[in-house]
Amino acid sequence: MPRRVLIVGAGLGGSLLALYLARAGHEVLIVERRGDPRARNYIGGRSINLAISARGIHALDRAGLTDELLSQGVRMPGRMIHPISGSPVFQAYSRDPSHAINSVSRSRLNLLLLNAACAERHVTARFDLRCVDVDFQTPTATFARDDGSIERFDADLIVGADGAFSAVRGAMQKTDRFDYSQTYLGHGYKELTIPPLPDGSFAMERNALHIWPRGGSMMIALPNPDASFTCTLFWPWEGEGSFAQIHGDEKVSRHFETVYPDAVPLMPTLLDDFAENPVGALVTVRSSPWHVNGKVALLGDAAHAVVPFYGQGANASFEDCEALVDALTAHPKDLAGALDHYQAMRIRNANAIADMALENFIEMRDKTASPAFRMRKRFEHALHGMFPSWYVPLYDMVSFSTIPYAEARERAARANRTVLAVAGGAAALAAVGAISAAVALSS
Ligand SMILES: Cc1cc2nc3c(=O)[nH]c(=O)nc-3n(C[C@H](O)[C@H](O)[C@H](O)COP(=O)(O)OP(=O)(O)OC[C@H]3O[C@@H](n4cnc5c(N)ncnc54)[C@H](O)[C@@H]3O)c2cc1C
Repeated sequence: MPRRVLIVGAGLGGSLLALYLARAGHEVLIVERRGDPRARNYIGGRSINLAISARGIHALDRAGLTDELLSQGVRMPGRMIHPISGSPVFQAYSRDPSHAINSVSRSRLNLLLLNAACAERHVTARFDLRCVDVDFQTPTATFARDDGSIERFDADLIVGADGAFSAVRGAMQKTDRFDYSQTYLGHGYKELTIPPLPDGSFAMERNALHIWPRGGSMMIALPNPDASFTCTLFWPWEGEGSFAQIHGDEKVSRHFETVYPDAVPLMPTLLDDFAENPVGALVTVRSSPWHVNGKVALLGDAAHAVVPFYGQGANASFEDCEALVDALTAHPKDLAGALDHYQAMRIRNANAIADMALENFIEMRDKTASPAFRMRKRFEHALHGMFPSWYVPLYDMVSFSTIPYAEARERAARANRTVLAVAGGAAALAAVGAISAAVALSS
């Protein structure tokens, strides 16, 4: 049954959802806090590029948008690890060389989705309206303009796709038995730039996600199609090597010369970028349930913000869009049933990727530099080659498949337990063999 759906937030998830819902025959109004980005062909906000992988591609395929997006992206089949001294080392993400994550412009992706959604007959978009309250009975959402004037919209269903600091979720938090947690990471992020070389080429290997792992902190760089790189520092807020400690041209120069020496010659605007660009906070949000009364639901970061270390936040939001539209189609006459189905499909998986993203921060910043880690990755790829259906490395399942996140995590844990047991058994057998040989020799 066609519904009138109000989506709060025309970000990545909200725009894709509008497109899906309109194509499924619903009437969609999408209302966004910022100005209309189509007027200036640009969407501001945090993080200039994003890694989109199999889950995002699956969702964009369904909208017929993958080719257009990927034609403007840069493939990253592996990481390039930059030690403090010595040459960078490339580590493939997967045994299969066709597997790659894709660096795309967040702003272009959002514009692509919004343009495609607004091209649908049943989508209306409104801008410069900030959601400030939600009435869960009618349901109605109240929006404020900068001049203080108010506008209200009602609908059959309201979806809060308004990001990690969601106003819709804020209203839900005041309802009975709504579970919510918000945890800030002790690290913030700041973006810097490596421009193209004077001849217009990339200053480093273009087809890689570059990492400078430094124990308690790191810098990464993702390539852009214009041959620049967007670098992101992940530093602690306080203490040794923190944003609080390292500021001012002299300290910043000294720190970069010591910690990221190979990057410094490639960063002519380092000091200006460092002084001008803000430090952003990184938050994990968990919530449950994801709907109230079958009338108001959450999607994307509004329901489950995750830290960016698995490059999955946007990918997971796109999976939410697929799950929500499928649930509405499967339960055409029962909105509450559809939303129960949607959250049953997604909450476990959202919590699993939240955990894995936190774990991957430690892997990226502490472990990628070590020879033992590189050996383990080679071993994982070899095992995958020998037993392709039994052993699939976790990174492959998360980034190159659409196996639900929670299932991927469980499968990887099970396989790792077996590998450890077999390795333990083999070591025990080898020890018994060595002892027997020693006993034989001594008798
Ligand atoms: C540094 C960094 C790097 C990242 N890298 C990756 C990556 O490589 N891969 C990946 O998949 N994900 C990545 N992410 C995560 C990704 O950005 C988010 O998961 C994704 O943007 C979530 O989409 P969303 O639609 O839920 O929210 P958003 O994209 O944040 O959209 C929310 C929209 O709602 C609007 N809004 C907010 N409040 C209101 C209001 N009160 N009323 C009306 N509108 C409102 C906002 O203006 C915005 O347009 C990264 C995040 C960060 C911070």
